[in-house]
Amino acid sequence: MDTPRIIDGKAVAAAVLDECRAEAAALKERGITPGLAVVLVGSDPASKVYVGSKVRTCGELGIHSEKIELPAETTQDELLDVVRRLNNDPAIHGILVQSPPPAHIDEEAIVRAIDPRKDVDGFHPENVAKLALEDPTGFVPCTPAGCMKLLEVSGIQTNGAEAVVIGRSMIVGKPMALLLVAKNSNATVTIAHSRSKDLPAICRRADILVAAVGRPDMVKADWVKPGAVVIDVGINRVEDTSKKSGYRLTGDVDYADVAPKCAAITPVPGGVGPMTIAMLMKNTLQAARQLG
Ligand code: NAD
Repeated sequence: MDTPRIIDGKAVAAAVLDECRAEAAALKERGITPGLAVVLVGSDPASKVYVGSKVRTCGELGIHSEKIELPAETTQDELLDVVRRLNNDPAIHGILVQSPPPAHIDEEAIVRAIDPRKDVDGFHPENVAKLALEDPTGFVPCTPAGCMKLLEVSGIQTNGAEAVVIGRSMIVGKPMALLLVAKNSNATVTIAHSRSKDLPAICRRADILVAAVGRPDMVKADWVKPGAVVIDVGINRVEDTSKKSGYRLTGDVDYADVAPKCAAITPVPGGVGPMTIAMLMKNTLQAARQLG
């Protein structure tokens, strides 16, 4: 197995965005202009880039967007007031507060204050419960939803497959595991994490291996069963003096080492990354549809 299929996240994301553009137009014909509010507290450069591309993508699809940039000193109460205003704004169907907020902000309390019907990140406890209950009216966190879409459009069989997810965060690892084990997927799922014993042996069981850790090039070829499908969620900056920026992006999987051994693999960049924003747009349209 030395020519793996490279799963092209950019192409799949572009197809999802085309569907979103068509759905936004159809909603407008029914008198509903979908709207997304993105709140940024402080001036973290990476967060600014993410917020900028979310707002830009809305513009490209005909989705109304509101970018709310607040100073780093914004208090918890001031931020809660903004969230409450957006909860009551009929022009806004989706709300997200860009993570991470400054350290003095209690992020969990902010997430809980968002109307769950507008929680397009899928982080509110009501949406976490709906995911566990397999209730399709809930919002699925964008990154794991994007991973599932990549598996689906690549024709990868999850039914009865052994899946291993490395990472147990509420943003990627846990929701990913719930999606894989759900009745419309039917994988047998193991969640591994920082306290797991003999991680390479656990990973070697996987027909589908999802890495969501945040450690550059951690997964090596001898962790991977021949013919496995590898989904690399990690986005890590590593120093690279040959680059103008001084760094390059790498995943949690040692791509050069692992790729020859697998049936299919996502590259970094260009794999899972582009899917996250596409699924955010999809969630915003779902919110607009459901709120009417
Ligand atoms: P996190 O830090 O919240 O969680 C990391 C998880 O990895 C934890 O559950 C921890 O138990 C586990 N872990 C840490 N060290 C480990 C080790 N040595 N062995 C096994 N498990 C270990 O991170 P996150 O928010 O889930 O993100 C994970 C990675 O995915 C990061 O690189 C992040 O940048 C990336 N990410 C990418 C996207 C995207 O759009 N592609 C979105 C979100 C996160």
